[in-house]
Amino acid sequence: MSELNRIGIDLGGTKISAVRMNSAGEVINRRRLASPQDNYQETLQTITDLVLSLEQGQVCHVGIGTPGAETHSGGMKNCNSTWLNGQPFRVDLERSLNRPVRIANDANCFALSEASDGAGQGAQSVFGVILGTGVGGGWVINGDIVQGVNGIAGEWGHNSLPNPDEEERPGPACYCGRTGCIETWLSGPGLSADYKRQAGVSLTAEKIIASCNTEARAAKALDRYCHRLARSLATVINICDPAVIVLGGGLSKTEQLYQRVPELWSQWVFSDEVRTKLLPPKHGDDSGVRGAAWLWPAD
Ligand SMILES: [Zn+2]
Repeated sequence: MSELNRIGIDLGGTKISAVRMNSAGEVINRRRLASPQDNYQETLQTITDLVLSLEQGQVCHVGIGTPGAETHSGGMKNCNSTWLNGQPFRVDLERSLNRPVRIANDANCFALSEASDGAGQGAQSVFGVILGTGVGGGWVINGDIVQGVNGIAGEWGHNSLPNPDEEERPGPACYCGRTGCIETWLSGPGLSADYKRQAGVSLTAEKIIASCNTEARAAKALDRYCHRLARSLATVINICDPAVIVLGGGLSKTEQLYQRVPELWSQWVFSDEVRTKLLPPKHGDDSGVRGAAWLWPAD
């Protein structure tokens, strides 16, 4: 079935995006609509209708990316679309679409997209990092997502910030119940909160980055951010040693990161030479849908 087109669906809490892609990675068609809220049956029906409208009678492979993961018993867990939690989502979709369906975590889809035909194309090991509202990650080796026995491989955002100084201890409270998680420092809200603690006024992450060439407090916030990202990614390198780390999410648009973080991270990497590359994403906001489509790899 590998010559078939593939449909990738990014199922978010508020929006569903979908693309139909050929085996060369060219987008044939796309759709975007609002996610049904709080209604599992309607979510199933919406995705089924979406697939049928995109394939127009030519059966396609179907891959879905969504926050959360499938448990060993087949139910979903950790979904921000909470009405999916506990439901046998994949099995129900397979029944409804009458074919196999593949589902993966959205951060894993991002990493797979960039590893398949994005910034990490051709690299044996690609670590994808999401720096957005939250901090997530995924790891792809030889074109395959590393799932892990607990289904959490690549989830570095709820490790503690490494090598904290006095001011960084114990760190901000995290929704996961711990303090000082990487996510509380490196997410967009984390950067914004750091700026507020130091400068005394609120500014969004986007505005901090936009004003860092003209405003000293913003420049310092970006300095701290680069230092924390470098420390955090050094631990990723020490454990996974990927050829490429690709950044995604809103903060991946911060150009300064790609030069400054690799200048800093060698202080904490256990190697006198660091060959890992830090790269911006090639597919930007499309990585979620493209990675979901690449859950069915080309030959
Ligand atoms: Zn946490």
